Amino acid sequence: MFSKSSSAKGCFFVFRKRSVIFYPTLFAKLSCGKKVNENKYIHNALRQIHVDTPCSPISGFSISGLATYIQIPELDFCIDMGECPLSAIPLDHVFLTHAHGDHARCLMRHHSLRKMMGVERDSVYYMPENISENAREWIKAEAMFEGVSEAKFRYPEIEPVTAGNRQFLRYRKEIAFEPFEVKHSIPAMGGTLYFYKKKLKDEYLGKSATEIIELRKNGVEITREVYEPLVSFMGDCLGESLLDNSHVFQSKVLITECTFLDEGEEAMSKKKGHSHLKDIVNALNELGDEIKCEKIILSHFSMKYSERHIRDALDKGIPDKFKEKIVAFI
Ligand SMILES: [Zn+2]
Ligand SMILES: [Zn+2]
Repeated sequence: MFSKSSSAKGCFFVFRKRSVIFYPTLFAKLSCGKKVNENKYIHNALRQIHVDTPCSPISGFSISGLATYIQIPELDFCIDMGECPLSAIPLDHVFLTHAHGDHARCLMRHHSLRKMMGVERDSVYYMPENISENAREWIKAEAMFEGVSEAKFRYPEIEPVTAGNRQFLRYRKEIAFEPFEVKHSIPAMGGTLYFYKKKLKDEYLGKSATEIIELRKNGVEITREVYEPLVSFMGDCLGESLLDNSHVFQSKVLITECTFLDEGEEAMSKKKGHSHLKDIVNALNELGDEIKCEKIILSHFSMKYSERHIRDALDKGIPDKFKEKIVAFI
């Protein structure tokens, strides 16, 4: 059996009964002529998915082309901001994996809602260095469009990041973040969040408290720095990016995209810069027992698939050995 995620119950944005009756009709009209017979309901970006993990509850939404935002409240971190529900407002650190609208478009909404709701400190918006200048232009253009005067306009806190450069989160000094490059149709990054701590060096493990105090007094460095990988996320990427960055399988939790599932969609998936289920299975088989993740969350499924189709495809495709670890973020 797969681990199960759960969807938000009682969320005031959700009209579940209505959605079941109303949306299929709407969808059929919208898709006029196009064969879309799988989807029995429209994926709703404000109907959040919740997954319990050893690091934090993780909640959000991620369907290709619609929206992706993945909130990790205990690490005060949000991956992408393709939609901005109220639950994202308190999060102080947001990372944009790349510039596609379904991952980035609500950055300013997040910033403005915080101001509107009286959150005093600025959230920090981390993003790949090579998109940060365009982001500034876009943010300013959006503000001008909304009628903000030049004199009053102020940029949000944007922090460009480069691959391999590990840094502590602005407001959480025990959490470090290290981005890495992934292959997608445009420049894109994934990242790993680490828990930082100092541990007694092995040679001092058996020492008494008095001896330790004495060593400290004499200026001996008795600790070593440890970075424990908590959560890795891939953003949008080709399946091969998983093996290019195989360190992600050392994290307790891995969040990776799995846009396409079906037989015959492999070439198209590659062409669009996305991962196919077969790429994930290939990485799992290749690394086998080296995989340390307790949970591997698959996200960003194509919107054409129904929930049933996704679960069936995973059930058929994922090797038994890994099924317990896999969670479909739907
Ligand atoms: Zn995407
Ligand atoms: Zn993308």
